[in-house]
Amino acid sequence: MNSKRKPILAANWKMHKTAAEAVEFARAIQEGTGPLSDREAVIAPPFTALQAVAGVLQTAGYFPCAQNCHWEVKGAFTGEISPVMLGELGCRYVIVGHSERRHIFGETDETVRKKAAAVFANGMVPIVCIGEVLAQREAGGTFDVVGAQVDGALKDLDADRARRLVLAYEPVWAIGTGRTATPVQAQEVHAFIRQRLESLFDKSVANEARILYGGSVKPDNVDSLMEQPDIDGTLVGGASLEVESFKRIIEFQFSSGE
Ligand code: PEP
Repeated sequence: MNSKRKPILAANWKMHKTAAEAVEFARAIQEGTGPLSDREAVIAPPFTALQAVAGVLQTAGYFPCAQNCHWEVKGAFTGEISPVMLGELGCRYVIVGHSERRHIFGETDETVRKKAAAVFANGMVPIVCIGEVLAQREAGGTFDVVGAQVDGALKDLDADRARRLVLAYEPVWAIGTGRTATPVQAQEVHAFIRQRLESLFDKSVANEARILYGGSVKPDNVDSLMEQPDIDGTLVGGASLEVESFKRIIEFQFSSGE
């Protein structure tokens, strides 16, 4: 991390927890960690629990987040949720382009771009997920893949929005597998992404945008990941489902930064 960028510790619950379970968790985690001033804790429950979670996330530094949205504000899109609806619930962030959305539900860089733009247009901040699959890494294609995803998702974004953007680098081979990128592997890609932001926009945008790491983050590896200068937080699946484990991730220890 870099002390100029406020870290984000984000929980992506995917299709887990009923509204009642989600509220119980949200209360317990706030009681456990208390108000946050130097970091943000973000919780992305399923849509069905979002309103209830937003209602109880009242402690400073905690923010509700959606896991997905449509890019249109309304219309004949059965089963979809619009960014206006999410804004109404008090959502601060929306995850877009998660690898499960890309690989199971066929999302493309173009749909991710439209969703990110719609999230900004409705007063929230997108957490744009990018990352290579194992075969691409093994073929030496990580930078090409990630670079193309960044370009595709951010095409036409203005600098003012780009500096508020959150990107999440999530190597697909590390999601839910227990196989984490080493801090050095993750830092290498984060530095590349920041460089790409500088080429697309300018140095100040690159210095302000936050880049999270996701992929089997756990209490025992969060500190070493957060020591890296270009890792500004984590997006956490499995280890965010238990209060004690997510609490430890929020309370990551940091010793050697700027
Ligand atoms: C994720 O779903 O974004 C994720 C990183 O999952 P996990 O932490 O379980 O690998």
